[in-house]
Amino acid sequence: MTQRPAAGAAEDGDSPSTVEAYQSAILSAITPLAPARLELAAAEGCVLAEDVTATVALPSFDNSSMDGYAVHASDVARAVQQAPAMLPVAGEIAAGDVGAYRLAPGTAIKIMTGARLPAEADAVVPVEWTDGGTGQVAVYRAAEPGNAVRYAGGDAAEGETLLSAGARMRPMQIAVAASAGRKAVMVRPRPRVVVLSTGDELTEPGTPLVPGRIWDSNSYMIAACAREAGAVAFRHSVVPDDPAGVLPALEEQLSRADLLITTGGVSMGGEHDVVKAALRELGTVTFRKVAMQPGMPQGFGVIGPDKTPIFTLPGNPVSAYVSFQVFVRPAIAALQGADDLSLPAVQATLTGPVRSPAGRRSFLRGVLDGSEVTPLSGQQSHQVASLGRANALIVVPERETQLPAGHPADVLVLP
Ligand code: AMP
Ligand code: MG
Repeated sequence: MTQRPAAGAAEDGDSPSTVEAYQSAILSAITPLAPARLELAAAEGCVLAEDVTATVALPSFDNSSMDGYAVHASDVARAVQQAPAMLPVAGEIAAGDVGAYRLAPGTAIKIMTGARLPAEADAVVPVEWTDGGTGQVAVYRAAEPGNAVRYAGGDAAEGETLLSAGARMRPMQIAVAASAGRKAVMVRPRPRVVVLSTGDELTEPGTPLVPGRIWDSNSYMIAACAREAGAVAFRHSVVPDDPAGVLPALEEQLSRADLLITTGGVSMGGEHDVVKAALRELGTVTFRKVAMQPGMPQGFGVIGPDKTPIFTLPGNPVSAYVSFQVFVRPAIAALQGADDLSLPAVQATLTGPVRSPAGRRSFLRGVLDGSEVTPLSGQQSHQVASLGRANALIVVPERETQLPAGHPADVLVLP
């Protein structure tokens, strides 16, 4: 068993941390955001901080599940095509009609889907089983008691827990809350994330490239990752490799950030590693190696008066992407108190061989298709083209240096 280090216990000279130990250290340093009461439209993507219960039975009244005729089942019990039951139609009840109706024996009342069942009726004959008559209806088939009736409480009983704290308010959960009559819910809001790329080589996309420069992709990518993970993300313009500029740029963002993410400037290269240089002196951010590929150099800690968490991701785009999914995504979920911390994982059969460095967990770009996963060519961490073709990350455990085609592998499904 690996010992779980406290956040910030080790520095990058030490032996690499395992992926799990690093994840745990991060999560133990995250405090969920304070809950707020938000109207349903604003609560989408937020995470419930309360249980939502049914204050009334759902539905709250017996009603018809079809357009047809409310009847006494006994009145149509012998109805067949050749000898239909003939019933006078005593009226019509549309959905939303709040009148109090009673069904006299030997009669039918025309009824619409969702309309309240008249008192004493015990079945609905679908219009398709009749001649659709208005003054009188011919019923060609018997209906059992309860046929096409939706009983009060058939969806949920009064007092039943419909949604539990920790659930994310996706469209399905919004539907449930609204169906239970809730206008607003207590949720933890979407974390506000500021993303900032560093590097003298970075050029804004849309502007011409000169040799020696590349277009900045990380800040757009990581901001998009953060939004997809449930955050509100702001992208900062590129920050040059000037150690004196990095800290002020970060501090300026603190008032609008629940989480900061930088990319670049944390490798082992010395004076150009400006993020490391700027943050190390604070003493609240730890830089260390994690036994994985890509994404070995990592930094995490807190910054500013509110101890805002900060991730310093490596600069290579695929390293930054994988680091986000493995470490930042769970942290964003934890800020929301969510129960969906990690990417969904499945097992699939490799269609081709894969390689991995000894002692490090590899996350390889792949294409998952049903029960098979195909490793993509171009697995270096700057090769963003293959990232664009991937829908999954193949996980090769630390103990393996290669896996042959036909071997099963754990696969993370990319959102
Ligand atoms: P660094 O971690 O700053 O040493 O950067 C490692 C590699 O990632 C270098 O090849 C950088 O040019 C590249 N890189 C750093 N930041 C970005 C970015 N925002 N977009 C694309 N590539 C980047
Ligand atoms: Mg750099």
